[in-house]
Amino acid sequence: MFSRLRGDFPILDARIGKSPLSYLDSGATSQKPQCVIDTFVEYYQQRNSAVHRGAHSLAVEATDAFENGRIAVAGLVGGDAEQVCWTKNATEALNIVALGIDRASHGFGGEAAERFALSPADSIVITEMEHHANLVPWQQLAASTGAQLRWLPVTDAGELDLSRLTDIVDETTKVLAFTHVSNVLGTVNPVQRLVARAREVGAYVVLDACQSVPHMPVDFTDLDVDFAAFSAHKALGPTGLGVLWGRPGLLDALPPVLTGGSMITSVSMEESGFMPAPQRFEAGTQPVAEVAAFATAVGYLAEVGLEEIFDHERQLARILLDGIAEIPGIRVLGDAETRIGTVAFDVDGVHAHDVGQYLDSQGVAVRVGHHCAQPLHRRFGVTASTRASTYLYNNAEDCRRFLSALAEVRPFFGVAAEGA
Ligand code: PLP
Repeated sequence: MFSRLRGDFPILDARIGKSPLSYLDSGATSQKPQCVIDTFVEYYQQRNSAVHRGAHSLAVEATDAFENGRIAVAGLVGGDAEQVCWTKNATEALNIVALGIDRASHGFGGEAAERFALSPADSIVITEMEHHANLVPWQQLAASTGAQLRWLPVTDAGELDLSRLTDIVDETTKVLAFTHVSNVLGTVNPVQRLVARAREVGAYVVLDACQSVPHMPVDFTDLDVDFAAFSAHKALGPTGLGVLWGRPGLLDALPPVLTGGSMITSVSMEESGFMPAPQRFEAGTQPVAEVAAFATAVGYLAEVGLEEIFDHERQLARILLDGIAEIPGIRVLGDAETRIGTVAFDVDGVHAHDVGQYLDSQGVAVRVGHHCAQPLHRRFGVTASTRASTYLYNNAEDCRRFLSALAEVRPFFGVAAEGA
C-alpha cells in the first residue's frame, strides 16, 4: 500500500537539479496529497463564504465544511467536536493555554478561572527535550506569575530521565507540559506514567502532540490529558491551521487571550460575555479553506491507518539507523527504544549546514540546525545537528539515497581520514 500512495503526492516527482527528490524533512512540514490540494482549491471555487453568519446557501455550505472539519479531527484524536478549537498552529495553541493561565493568575475570568491561578508557591514542569513552542511560553508564564519552572532531564539514550519524577513533579506542581514525541530524537515519551504522577499531585497536563498525531494512533481522552496541541501542516494538511484540544469543563473556564468578533455572547460599552469552547478561542475570521482541506487529510490518514503508518516509519527508522551505524564519524543523538522515523545526528568534522547542503546537492532534503530545541542540543554537547525525518510516502529507496549521500559527506569535505 505504501508504495502505491507515493503517487498521490505530486511534489515527490520534483527534481532537485538532476536528482530525484528524497524528502526526509516531514518533521518540519509534511507534503500534501492531491486530494488535500483539490479540496483547498474546490473550496474557493465552489463554497467560499463567511461561516456562522450568513443566511444564504454558500454560507451554509462553508459552515458545514468548517464544522465537519471539527468532527473529523475529533474522530482522529478522540473527544467531541466541541473539544477541538482551531488555532493558527500548535505554537498558538500552546500559547493560548499558557497565556490563559497567566490571565487567570492576574484575576481575569472570574471564579471559573481561579482554579488555574498560579503564584510564587507553585511550579510548572516541562522537559529538557521540548520544542521552543512548548518551552518559551512556560518560561514567560513563570516570569509573569513568580511560579518556579522545573524540567525533567534527558538521558544519553534520549529518553526522559524519570528517576527523580516524584521530586520534580511534587505537590507544588500545577502544570506538567511535555512533548509526546521528540521532534529531534524521535523518542515516544511515556505519557501514562507522566499523567499518573500529574494526577497524584493535581497538576494539569498539557501535551504537545505535534510529532505524534501525524505518525501514530493517538486518543487524547484515553491518554487522559487536559490540553493538547498539534499542527495540521505536519499531518498532510495546510499551513495556517492548528488544533487546541481540551477537556470540556476546562476549556470553558480558561480565559481567552484573543478577544473580539465571533467569540462573544453579548457586548455592552462596559463589558462582554464570552462563548463556551470552541468559539471562545476562535476570535475573528477563521481559516475555513484550511479546515476543509485538513478534513480531507484526516480522512486520508484514517484510510491508510495510523498503526500502519507507525509500523512503516519504524521500519524506515531501522534502515536509517543500521545504515548510519556503518558510516564512520557519525553520532546519532539518542537511541530510544520506542521511536518514530526521526533520526538526528552529528557528523564529526563537518558543520550540519554543510551536511545539509551536500545532501541537497544529491536531491536529499533534510533539516539542519537546532530544530527549535536548543537546550536539548546543548544536552548532547552540540549546537546543531542534521535530522532525517520520514513519513508515510517515504520508502527504502529514499533511505538508500540518503545513506549513500551521507557516506560521501566526510570524504567530500576532506575529513574522512581523521575520524574514521
Ligand atoms: N512542537 C513540536 C514537537 C514540533 O515539532 C513543532 C514544529 O516543529 C512545534 C511544536 C511547533 O509547531 P508549529 O510551528 O506548527 O506551531
